[in-house]
Amino acid sequence: MAKNIQGIRGMHDVLPEQTARWQFVEQHIREVLGAYGYQEIRLPIVEKTELFKRSIGEVTDIVEKEMYTFDDRNGDSLTLRPEGTAGCVRACLEHGLLHNQTHRLWYFGQMFRYERPQKGRYRQFVQLGVETYGMADADIDAELILLSRRLWLRLGINDSVELQLNSLGTIAERAVYREQLVAYFNAHLEQLDEDSQRRLQSNPLRILDTKNPGMQALVEAAPKLMESLGEESIAHFKRLTDTLDALGIAYTINKRLVRGLDYYSKTVFEWVTTELGAQGTICAGGRYDGLIEQLGGKPNYAVGFAMGMERILALLENREDLDNKQAVDAYMILVGEGAQKAGVLLAEEVRDCLPGLRLQMHCGNASFKSQFKKADKSGAEYALILAEDEVQNSQVSIKFLRTDQPQCTVSTAELIEMLKQ
Ligand code: ATP
Ligand code: MG
Repeated sequence: MAKNIQGIRGMHDVLPEQTARWQFVEQHIREVLGAYGYQEIRLPIVEKTELFKRSIGEVTDIVEKEMYTFDDRNGDSLTLRPEGTAGCVRACLEHGLLHNQTHRLWYFGQMFRYERPQKGRYRQFVQLGVETYGMADADIDAELILLSRRLWLRLGINDSVELQLNSLGTIAERAVYREQLVAYFNAHLEQLDEDSQRRLQSNPLRILDTKNPGMQALVEAAPKLMESLGEESIAHFKRLTDTLDALGIAYTINKRLVRGLDYYSKTVFEWVTTELGAQGTICAGGRYDGLIEQLGGKPNYAVGFAMGMERILALLENREDLDNKQAVDAYMILVGEGAQKAGVLLAEEVRDCLPGLRLQMHCGNASFKSQFKKADKSGAEYALILAEDEVQNSQVSIKFLRTDQPQCTVSTAELIEMLKQ
C-alpha cells in the first residue's frame, strides 16, 4: 500500500465536528461588525514580497525569518501573506479608495508564518482583520476597542480578557525617544542578548518587546516613550481613555507595549488573556498613520486590529454546547428499487417546499435495519420511510426518532404540513 501523505506541520484541518464552533464565532463577528457599519473586503493570499518588506519592515521577526517566500515561474518573488494590513492598504490604494474618503473594512482568512508550532501558534492560522482609513481622531481608535469588546461579550469570553493600552507617539517623537533608548541600552550592552544587540542599531524599540526572561529587568527600567510624548499625542491618548472611562471599560496602560511591527503610531492596544499560557494575545492593533504614505499613497489616517481565531477558539474550548451535534432534521429511508426512484423526487419536492429543513436522503442499496441505524446516528428528529407499499399508495411513513409519538403514514401534502410545524 502507498504511504500516507501527512499535512504540513503547524497547518491544521478543521474537522466537521469542530466547524460549528468556527461558524458560531464567524456569525457573531459578522453581526457585530455590521452593527458598527463595517464592510467586508476580500484580498488575495499571495502578494509581492516587496509589499511586506516595505510595510512590515526589514528588521522584524516576520520579515527576517517567518515569511513563506517563493519565486513564481516568471522569477517574481511572492510571499504568502503573514498578515493582512499590507494587502488591504495595497488594494485600497490600487482601487483609489483612499482619496477624501473614510472606510471601515474587515477581512477574514488564512495567514502564514514560519514559526515554531505550539499551542496557539501555528504556521497557517486565521485572522479577522479590521482596518479603518481617513479618520484622525481618537474616537475611531475607541470604536475599534468597543467593537472588539462587544464581540467578547457576545462570545462569553469578556471575563477572560484584559485590555492593555499604550501610545507610541508620532514618528518625530519616536525618533527622539529612540536616541534615549539607544543610549540607555548602550550603557548596559553586556546585558543584551544577541538578537537585541543586533536590533540596537536597526530597531531598538523592538528590544522592549523581547520575550527573553533574562532581559526583563533591564527592559523594565528603560526610559518610557509615554513620558516623552508631545501635547497632541497626549491629548489623543486622553480622548481615548476618557471614552473608555465614560463607558466603564477597564484597561491597563502597559508602557512596554510596542507591538512587533514598525508601522504603528499613537494608539496601540492588545487584548490579552492569562488562560492560554505564553500565547496570551488574542487581538492586537493600533494606529498606523504612516503606512499609507510608506506604500506610495498620499499621507492618510489608518487604525486597525487583527484577532487570532485559533486563540479565540481555544478560549471556547470547554463550550461543548457549541459542538456540531445535529446536522440534519430528517433522514429519508428508501427500501427497494421503486422507492429509491420515487425517493429522489419526494426529497426534492420537500426541499422545494421547506427550504429551511435539513433533509438527508439515504444513498445506495442497504437493508432497512442498517438505514435505520444511520437515521438514528444522523441526529435527525424524523425518519421518512419509503418502501414498496408507500410508493404504490403515493404515501410516506414518518417515524419519530426522539419522542414516543407513534409512527404514521401520510400523503406528501400532509407530510409537508407536518414538517412545517
Ligand atoms: P505574538 O506576540 O503572539 O507573536 P504578533 O504580535 O506576532 O503575536 P500580530 O501580528 O499582531 O501578532 O497578529 C495579531 C494576532 O494574530 C495575535 O494577537 C494572535 O492572536 C494571532 N497570531 C499571530 N501569530 C499567530 C500564529 N503564528 N498562530 C496563531 N495565531 C497567531
Ligand atoms: Mg509573532
